Amino acid sequence: MEPLKICGRCKKPIPWDMHFQRKRRYGIVCQRCLNKLWRAKGYQFERSLVKKLTELGFNSDRIPTSASGRVTLPDIMAFHPQKRLALGLECKAVNDKTWTVYRDQIAKATSYLLRHYPFDIERKVGICVKFLLGERCKSPIVIKLLNVSDNMNLEKIQDITVSIESESDMPELTSPTLSRRSRKIRRVRAERYSHS
Ligand SMILES: [Zn+2]
Repeated sequence: MEPLKICGRCKKPIPWDMHFQRKRRYGIVCQRCLNKLWRAKGYQFERSLVKKLTELGFNSDRIPTSASGRVTLPDIMAFHPQKRLALGLECKAVNDKTWTVYRDQIAKATSYLLRHYPFDIERKVGICVKFLLGERCKSPIVIKLLNVSDNMNLEKIQDITVSIESESDMPELTSPTLSRRSRKIRRVRAERYSHS
């Protein structure tokens, strides 16, 4: 019989039918711990976004997943008093090269903004995706912004797919997350585009 595998993080034995992964830091990690590490990454991502938004002059708050009435709120709310700009952000850290946000989630953030901010405030829903590329790489963030207006039809909102190659609508926040190589690729591409 094969010896029982022990999780390098929680030190508990890993049942034979449980999934596990090798991690540089821990050795073998059990599925329970993988789930916890995954949630921690999402949490870190949201906290770092709030910090960056604050540096850009936004009043910004993360909505804890345990908050009551959570289902009707975006992950992060941000308001810029000078720019009169309100953002409702949906955030996700992903292991893939693309991520699709479904229309219900976008409609939820949209109706939050409509309920809380009047027409004379510029309102945008933001889809924020952090592409996790492994421990040794920079993980780029891409933000897509959608304008919100009083007369929009929530029924007509579509799913949105964000790719690691997508242009970010908040480069002032996201470009430091690009590696030097991908910043160069984007610059060359933009120059080529402006010449043609
Ligand atoms: Zn474990």
